[in-house]
Amino acid sequence: MGTLTEPREPLAGSSYTTPSTAPPKENSVTAERKRILVVEDDDFTSLLIQELLDFHGYSVLRAADAVDAYRLANELRPDLILMDIQLSDSSGLEATKWIREVDALRDTPIVAVTAFAMREDQRRIMESGCDAYIAKPFHTDYFLETISQLVGAEPQGEA
Ligand code: MN
Repeated sequence: MGTLTEPREPLAGSSYTTPSTAPPKENSVTAERKRILVVEDDDFTSLLIQELLDFHGYSVLRAADAVDAYRLANELRPDLILMDIQLSDSSGLEATKWIREVDALRDTPIVAVTAFAMREDQRRIMESGCDAYIAKPFHTDYFLETISQLVGAEPQGEA
């Protein structure tokens, strides 16, 4: 897999054209694709979310459990983390607390995704360090809106 911005050296004698004339991606939210770490233990749900986010111009990384989520968050420094609260090995709230202990990840937006959002759950979710939560099943528009607000998907429009 190539990196996004690695400058390439033209080969001697080759006609080198810059890639800057590529047509803009129809659904891209920003010029640079924001990277989202999707933490979800249900593979089917994870794939659906990946499809949706990918279609809307995000770059998606996936983790299936809390340990993986913590590891990948550290390694990849995503722009936002979608955190399933019911994970197989531990709670997504626990993973959120681990992630918040890391200086570099302290301000990374974390959105809890949960099937239950009783008042008590909401309080626990926000106390664990999440920035927002989305209750499943979610409406696509609301889901995308919440994410784009947190990753600052409209940097050009900022006053
Ligand atoms: Mn789950």
